[in-house]
Amino acid sequence: MARNPRFDILFEPVRIGPVTAPNRFYQVPHASGMTNALPQVRASFRGIKAEGGWGVVCTGAVSIHPSSDDSPLPFAMLWDDKDIPAHALMTDAVHRHGALAGVELWHGGACTLNRTSRLAPLSPSGMPWLSTHLGFMGNQRPRTMDTADIQELLRWQAAGARRAMQAGFDIVYVYAGMGYLPYEFLLPEYNHRTDAYGGSIENRVRLVRELIEATRDAVGGKCAVALRISLEELRGRPGNSAESEAHEVVGLLADLPDLWDVKMDSSPTDCAPSRFSPEGSHEPIVNFVKQLTARPVVGVGRFTSPDVMVSQIRRGVLDLIGGARPSIADPFLPNKINEGREHEIRECIGCNICISSWHDGVPVRCTQNPTAGEEWRRDWHPERFAPAASESSILIVGGGPAGLECAVTLARRGYSVTIADTAKEFGGRLRFETRLPGLATWGRVVDWRLGQLRSRPNVQLYPASELGVDDIMGLEHSHVVIATGARWTRMLYSTLEFPVGQLDGPSVYTPDDLAAGVVPPAPVVVFDFDNYYLAGAVAEQLARTTSDVTYVTTAGNASAWTFMTNELPQVHRALVKARVLIHTLKRVAAFDGETLTMADVYSGTEQRLACRSLVIVGVRTPRDELYQALMAKGQELRNAGITAVTRIGDSLAPGAIVHAVHSGHRYAREFDTVPGPAPYARDFPL
Ligand code: ADP
Ligand code: SF4
Repeated sequence: MARNPRFDILFEPVRIGPVTAPNRFYQVPHASGMTNALPQVRASFRGIKAEGGWGVVCTGAVSIHPSSDDSPLPFAMLWDDKDIPAHALMTDAVHRHGALAGVELWHGGACTLNRTSRLAPLSPSGMPWLSTHLGFMGNQRPRTMDTADIQELLRWQAAGARRAMQAGFDIVYVYAGMGYLPYEFLLPEYNHRTDAYGGSIENRVRLVRELIEATRDAVGGKCAVALRISLEELRGRPGNSAESEAHEVVGLLADLPDLWDVKMDSSPTDCAPSRFSPEGSHEPIVNFVKQLTARPVVGVGRFTSPDVMVSQIRRGVLDLIGGARPSIADPFLPNKINEGREHEIRECIGCNICISSWHDGVPVRCTQNPTAGEEWRRDWHPERFAPAASESSILIVGGGPAGLECAVTLARRGYSVTIADTAKEFGGRLRFETRLPGLATWGRVVDWRLGQLRSRPNVQLYPASELGVDDIMGLEHSHVVIATGARWTRMLYSTLEFPVGQLDGPSVYTPDDLAAGVVPPAPVVVFDFDNYYLAGAVAEQLARTTSDVTYVTTAGNASAWTFMTNELPQVHRALVKARVLIHTLKRVAAFDGETLTMADVYSGTEQRLACRSLVIVGVRTPRDELYQALMAKGQELRNAGITAVTRIGDSLAPGAIVHAVHSGHRYAREFDTVPGPAPYARDFPL
């Protein structure tokens, strides 16, 4: 198909100093959890984005010196010439497809605690950087840099830039954002210096200016020099000579960098979850930059709509459309627009499971794109599939995330696929969950897959079709996949993490009851020890219709695990705004239909609440009765022509949506293949 001329502007080349980006799609630096120890994994992950049409593909943060050591978080480095080959693998993979490769040289300053190098962290004035949304900051305080330290830093940046050039990078970054060292110099709360690097805004900007100059000298006109900067805090501060300090900083540096890469200050606002922030949420902070510089400007905003991208350019907000998450969820987003297939874009849902991977210290995972991080080690290309190796026809029972993903991938391989679901609508758990506050965007998991399935002739869709053992045995499919999901239980746990049995009773509910339409009478207590998004969202939803909702959790925060997905601060705010009472570090000890007894998880101290309905969001168990009943048929199955029955997703092992999608994808990829000796290939440092 031809490209819609409305989107032509997105495919114009953009000059960035001495290099030219082939189009306006720019994969900005983003964490991938892939260190120098995973060179092939990293090169494939980045290279596939270039193949998918991203005109520029960048690394994540690349440390320039052991005094910028983020461990235990994964980070890359260019400390030594021996680090060059691992990066060269990535630049080769990117160049192979005509894209430019960018490197985000990085010094973390007081944000890094140098747990491995054991060097005292560096800072402008000895102030520690406290990142409240992350639980893994330690006790090491930074030391104040003297003039010699600043000269050393400039030398490290220059050495990093030279190594980057040798590794084949086209764009070399100075990174002054997110609490990292050059950014700390910009803020008077962290910079109390009385020398040429502190005090006036001109002095606070000096380090960034010198880093840009040192980088430019080092690359000798061969690479572009980009400045990545956070502007959120600075934009909120009135300037002496301009509207804000952000205006002053950009005005002072104006045309010094070849490219401005502009962003927000903290991970929760920069990598903002869709539950609380729409597409394009950075615009009010970064929209002024283009007025103060003649250099191209790139910014992000979870852009997945080509019309929104065009509007950003036409309205003079950005020159290059930055993408981190959209490029993970669909590495082929640019090519799909280019080929008139924009309706096929697998849009990021803004769940931030990807960023949670970095917080977990592992290679990136994505809810929408199960191939992210698996390009090399499992040889999963996002758009290419091994053709069907047999005439097998597959019946999938259950059309939730696992079943739908399995069906799409089998269909793309060319198999004949039938998928049935009891419900009138496909979507499984998402039928209910997308109706909860802020979660509508997650419906893209279902929409994209249904769109794919409906466009393929080798797929039969049967909604409103509950299948039992006899139905399945009569349907003449060689392979049966059970994707029947999981159910929430009323199980409780002791403080010692032992299951203590079900809490049964007429007024005890689970999310499944709410999904089935039960309206629990107030006062309602939502008891959460699942600790991901659901209980918080359920409490917020219930508070819309009843004024008496209490949220109780064994954890120290509401929806505690969402600190991994940048959602936690906003979950708390939303619950407070909805007038939900929050009790943390409590477990439910007893409930008699009128009074609920909570016990403090540490002291055991009890407290009673008036309560008529208790909603337990805790443990799920597989809904696998159908699987068990089929397996019990033994030889009869084979007589009916069924050679295999396999569980996937939650019906095998309940998890988050990301797990279900990966499980469904894996079944489909591995169907008709001979299992290898290990589940995936291991990468080794070069
Ligand atoms: P997962 O996350 O593993 O995909 P879900 O719970 O989201 O699991 O989806 C499971 C789906 O399976 C639900 O939509 C449910 O209606 C469907 N289902 C369960 N049992 C049957 C059955 N016997 N026949 C058809 N569909 C079923
Ligand atoms: Fe988007 Fe979620 Fe994938 Fe991250 S994990 S890229 S937020 S869909």
